[in-house]
Amino acid sequence: MPLHSINPYTQKPIKTYRTDSPNAVERKLKQADKAFADWSALSVRERIEYFRKVAAHLTDNKQRYGELMTAEMGKTLKEAMSEVEKCATGCNYYIDNAETFLADQSIKTEARRSFIAYQPLGPVLAIMPWNFPFWQVFRFAIPGLIAGNVGLLKHAANVSGCALAIEELFTNCGFPEGVFQSLLVESKNVEGILKDKRVKAVTLTGSEKAGASVAATAGSQIKKSVLELGGSDALVVLADADLAKAAETATRSRMQNAGQSCIAAKRFIVEKSVKKEFTDRVLQHIRDIRQGDPMQENTTMGPVARPDLADEIERQCAESVRQGARLLHGGERDNCNVQPMLLDKVKPGMTAFDEETFGPLAVIIEARDEPDAIKLANQSNYGLGSALWTQDPEKADRLARQIQAGSVFVNSLMRSDPRVPFGGIKVSGFGRELSEAGIKEFVNIKTVWME
Ligand code: NDP
Repeated sequence: MPLHSINPYTQKPIKTYRTDSPNAVERKLKQADKAFADWSALSVRERIEYFRKVAAHLTDNKQRYGELMTAEMGKTLKEAMSEVEKCATGCNYYIDNAETFLADQSIKTEARRSFIAYQPLGPVLAIMPWNFPFWQVFRFAIPGLIAGNVGLLKHAANVSGCALAIEELFTNCGFPEGVFQSLLVESKNVEGILKDKRVKAVTLTGSEKAGASVAATAGSQIKKSVLELGGSDALVVLADADLAKAAETATRSRMQNAGQSCIAAKRFIVEKSVKKEFTDRVLQHIRDIRQGDPMQENTTMGPVARPDLADEIERQCAESVRQGARLLHGGERDNCNVQPMLLDKVKPGMTAFDEETFGPLAVIIEARDEPDAIKLANQSNYGLGSALWTQDPEKADRLARQIQAGSVFVNSLMRSDPRVPFGGIKVSGFGRELSEAGIKEFVNIKTVWME
């Protein structure tokens, strides 16, 4: 089956891509294996040099890459261009730090000399989603390749143009052939690739279902996997919060990228005494969203990426209303253009509370008090990136530790930042991306003991 890129805003086909034949996949696997031998023999400093070119190339071409993302998955051009810039920032972070992270670490023992060496594993398969078509790829590829691995990208079926543009970018920046390749394959063919002996590990960002299936295959082959799956994260607003800032940030966190972000604030949990004011403020911010053509500068929200994703978010909203939630805004839809929705009176047991919602749907959940707010926050199968709003630093420190999530951002927008680890607990996945932790996921942490 060919892969189709369709502009979600216009619904016009952009391009159809033929999938790689079994022979082509075999050629790419062979090439990856061959490339690994030479690439891994370079020093970290030599590999870093390539990423200086990548950073410059990304910055120079952000308009072109931004337009490609916007056309294929509908995020606003402004968001897409800042995503390209973020990839360049990620390069610069590892350019500055990777040598320190990967340096041998001397350990004091009774041996004459003992140390830890960090050595690459080989070709790593990266299964990536469409919601951040560049950033998701680069946040694996920068540390992964600098550590000496080579990358095989299986991108989401609706962003094949981005997949090929990223492959071409590495070629244009002078990377040796085979160090980074895109595989245009259907997800049903991934199992065979992952089972291939030349593929040493896998990283996946996507749904729970895809993650469970890929991790099961990796497990059956005793291969390392890193999973960054969905979230249904809480944004907790306590009575002493700066409500103006909290409401503005909460709306941005939920609605950016048309609500299609794993770390979006999916459940606003608000203390009863401030709930009305907070809700009114969020409602006003939602009313201010300008939906439309994502290529236009004044548009602040584009369409969702595919019609089935629009169907799903509509279902989740409608079901929650039937279960007793109250719709304060939204409800209209034109194909992939879904009007931003705000639901009040959401409770555990309702769809919008229990499921991950991947679209422009904000929900308000009332908490009796602070302990109730934390209980509700943790009443989820997910645990990726939460937020907490309070002006009391002691309370912030105590409660941030109680929230079950891979990250908690206090009085700030929850986001991925190359300097700090990114990843989840519970069904949000395991392993970490970014920071020192991320570059050490796909290495052999080797002990060398010399008497
Ligand atoms: P998927 O998880 O299906 O897709 C993510 C990536 O995984 C794609 O490259 C996809 O390929 C691939 N994939 C899917 N199934 C398998 C499989 N069995 N084996 C190997 N690779 C596989 O996400 P969807 O696009 O269908 O979105 C559905 C939901 O997933 C969203 O509503 C959201 O809840 C969640 N999601 C979470 C993301 C996050 O950032 N954590 C990102 C995207 C989605 P292909 O496109 O070819 O199917």
